[in-house]
Amino acid sequence: MIQLHDLRFEPFISEGKINTAIDAMSDKINQDYNGKNPVFLVVLNGAFMVASEIIKRFDGDCEVAFVKLGSYQGTATTGNVDTLLGLNISLQDRYVVIIEDIVDTGITLEEIYRILEKENSTDVRIATLFFKPEAYQKNFRINYIGMEIPNNFIVGYGLDYNGLGRNLTQIYKLKKENMTNLVLFGPPGAGKGTQANFLKDKYKLVHISTGDVFRYNIKNETSLGLHAKSFMDQGQLVPDNVTIEMLGAEVDKNPGANGFIFDGFPRTVAQAEALSELLKEKNTEVAAMIALEVDDEVLVERLLERGKTSGRNDDADEDIIRNRIHVYYEETAILKQFYLKENKYYGVDGVGTISEITERISRVIDSL
Ligand code: AMP
Repeated sequence: MIQLHDLRFEPFISEGKINTAIDAMSDKINQDYNGKNPVFLVVLNGAFMVASEIIKRFDGDCEVAFVKLGSYQGTATTGNVDTLLGLNISLQDRYVVIIEDIVDTGITLEEIYRILEKENSTDVRIATLFFKPEAYQKNFRINYIGMEIPNNFIVGYGLDYNGLGRNLTQIYKLKKENMTNLVLFGPPGAGKGTQANFLKDKYKLVHISTGDVFRYNIKNETSLGLHAKSFMDQGQLVPDNVTIEMLGAEVDKNPGANGFIFDGFPRTVAQAEALSELLKEKNTEVAAMIALEVDDEVLVERLLERGKTSGRNDDADEDIIRNRIHVYYEETAILKQFYLKENKYYGVDGVGTISEITERISRVIDSL
């Protein structure tokens, strides 16, 4: 297994298999272009490695040009590919073989085709080392295919993840992460932080409390902290864009985690959607929302009690406490529906001793 940036990848296609595929493709290309002096149009960056192998195996005259297009940003195809850079020879009346590392949606290729139409070539064909039939959205024919592969995100042999991995001599695929990601949910004062502290040790999870991260930033007077303080002191939510970005950064600090306990996040639908997206990019998902159910008056009592020692401005004043609970019902409680729809909602009685509640939550986690 290897790690590139924040993601882990596992071996998928060996160098031997790649070479066999290239041998077969090259044999066909050699037969078809015997005596035709083709132009190999290598689509950078990813195709440099396979192109070198095909071209080394080509008998007879040929020319090579390198062109550049971009369609990947991170792990998803963006679909807005538009320019062809670096075409420095005339393709008029020439046999052209486009060499690609991988064809997935076909959007990149369609764009190259469109641009090449103006060149009046005799014939344009496509050779690609990898082809993803499940992802392919176009109709035109791919003439030479090294290997068909499923719709995994792969790196190696010229293909990268955000710049890394091109030098690997075999293909790796994104590792299916066996993570347990929990959303600990409930109104302010429900005991999320207390329970998270026990659960993180018991299940070896990383605990991220957005409230704690904000308070840490306030204490250190960072610009994030200064921004968040005005909202927090009133018991209001910090704006989504700020909170989501901060959460993403916290997750990225823990690349090898077994899973996360999200405490105080998400608090809005936009945050829940952002969390799904973020975890999907890491090939994992939320396993469960565990909601601590506690009566409002018990909450107010608990928070006032905590305020005597917590030093938190938002625990000190009953109006602000009631506002936080109000904000919870107005903006956050709706997330129960969000996770219910995904069959991931688990309500737990949040009244009892700390260990009783840990026990109840553990029963849910153990059943996942
Ligand atoms: P907590 O410690 O979870 O009670 O959070 C304290 C305060 O931090 C909240 O009242 C909000 O002002 C802010 N905060 C914490 N988490 C979030 C979040 N996910 N979205 C917006 N604001 C948050």
